Amino acid sequence: MELNERAELDTSQANDLGRGSGGGGGGMGIPIPGGGGRGGIIGIVVAVLIALLGGGFGLNAMTNGDDGGQAGGGDLDQVCGTANPDRLQDARCRNLQFVNSIQAYWQEAYPELGNGKYEQTDTNFFQAAVNTGCGQADSGVGPFYCPADKQVYIDLSFYDELASRFGAKGEFAQPYVLAHEYGHHIQNLLGTNAKAGQGDQSGPKSASVRLELQADCYAGAWAKHATESKDKTGREPLFKSITEADINGAVQAAEAIGDDSIQERSGGQVNPDQFTHGTSEQRKRWFTQGYDRGDPKTCDTFGTDQL
Ligand SMILES: [Zn+2]
Repeated sequence: MELNERAELDTSQANDLGRGSGGGGGGMGIPIPGGGGRGGIIGIVVAVLIALLGGGFGLNAMTNGDDGGQAGGGDLDQVCGTANPDRLQDARCRNLQFVNSIQAYWQEAYPELGNGKYEQTDTNFFQAAVNTGCGQADSGVGPFYCPADKQVYIDLSFYDELASRFGAKGEFAQPYVLAHEYGHHIQNLLGTNAKAGQGDQSGPKSASVRLELQADCYAGAWAKHATESKDKTGREPLFKSITEADINGAVQAAEAIGDDSIQERSGGQVNPDQFTHGTSEQRKRWFTQGYDRGDPKTCDTFGTDQL
């Protein structure tokens, strides 16, 4: 994967909230329950289980909350603006470039779903804890989408977790995670998310699993078209190249965070009644289907028995 360093980034699509914006400077954030009732946040993995996977990465981040680190976040206009030639060395700017690509894609693809125009939304980078329209969350819940304020939240240290604990080391795992969260935004705009909130919240054929697999499929559809996405000037592509190895990296990430794999890794038995995101095989397959077809209309996880 090569990002185009000549692309001009739309810095209005992300905010850096810095550290402790949810906990009052290193205070302990209380994770919002992810399951039950779709008024809550929608993450990419089973939140509670992440914490069980050896130490709880959210808590580690919290412990470091008082080290006098950056308090108010950074100004992405400056850090990620074209005036900074080293901007792509910065993880925030790379992720902003992914976000720009994902939203450029949906600007084109969303109207074809027959529900009017796409509504842009921001990604918020935070460290340790954050206040959202869905309540307060800490990093332990993993990246998530909050339907109430329609925004995406991510502590970028999650990617280290994804690489070290889940073995998903390819950098293309990062835009996959973001594209999955933007998939939840699409569902929110379409009303799919609200409808799913009335269905079962766990179990192998639950509304929750259908919602999550659809978000993976939407991520695949974006990946198929990612190299076509242009920067804010409309002239420069955001990606120079995406290789087959990159796509495999995304598939591997989707696979690594299947409910069954996470349950096994956390030392428990595989219990399908507790599935909320789908199995590794399903997540891999739905991402791949989105990628192969390149059309979000084929991501109908609610209209099939073949999940
Ligand atoms: Zn999700």
